[in-house]
Amino acid sequence: MEDFKAAAKINGISRMYLLKRWLLDFAYPNRCPFCDKIIPFDEYYCAGCGSFFSAPPEKEELKFLNGLTAFTSYDTVSRAFVAELKSNNNGYALSAAAYMIFKRLIEEDFIADLDCITCVPMRRKNIQKRGYNQTKLLAKEISGLLGLPFVPLLKKTKDTLEQKSLSAEGRRVNVKGAFSVASKHYELNGKNILIIDDVCTTGSTLSENARTLKSAGAGRVFAAVFAKTKLY
Ligand SMILES: [Zn+2]
Repeated sequence: MEDFKAAAKINGISRMYLLKRWLLDFAYPNRCPFCDKIIPFDEYYCAGCGSFFSAPPEKEELKFLNGLTAFTSYDTVSRAFVAELKSNNNGYALSAAAYMIFKRLIEEDFIADLDCITCVPMRRKNIQKRGYNQTKLLAKEISGLLGLPFVPLLKKTKDTLEQKSLSAEGRRVNVKGAFSVASKHYELNGKNILIIDDVCTTGSTLSENARTLKSAGAGRVFAAVFAKTKLY
């Protein structure tokens, strides 16, 4: 079984995902989302542009989470890129962000034990306003890369204030009890889950998501984000 799993991948990437990219490349030649240069189908950005991003901050422990991985620090470069992800439904930017997170993920030991991937949920009215949920798209792209199922396990059941405007303690209180398990069909018991988000600041949303999943029976819960703010 392990051999079969390994054979289904090339450098950790699902063969099916690569096949789709190869086919798509005929219709829409692959481009670097930062400089628009044409690049091979199995690249996600050009070498020059990839070097703009800084290293992630030092790892920190978050309550209820068994691990947290970030591609980069939240700074002016990553802030501009996340804004691009949020405002335009840009497929090249999305696959670049997914690949960057994937690169960090494959260095983690927990990657072998994951059962499925999910995302931080958005309220329906916010999705309607934007037309899509970029975090869900990001999570689906990473699930494609890893060849693991994407399951929308969580839903947001309470309106919350914008986390940006609050202190660390305020953020924790703001999201407490704001989520519930959405999927009644997925057997959560003992499952190891990876939650995807674009940016992590204090981690209170991810921590509350993990608490919600664990109280419904999940085993270990990890998170991976594109950018993480440094500790103060
Ligand atoms: Zn480039």
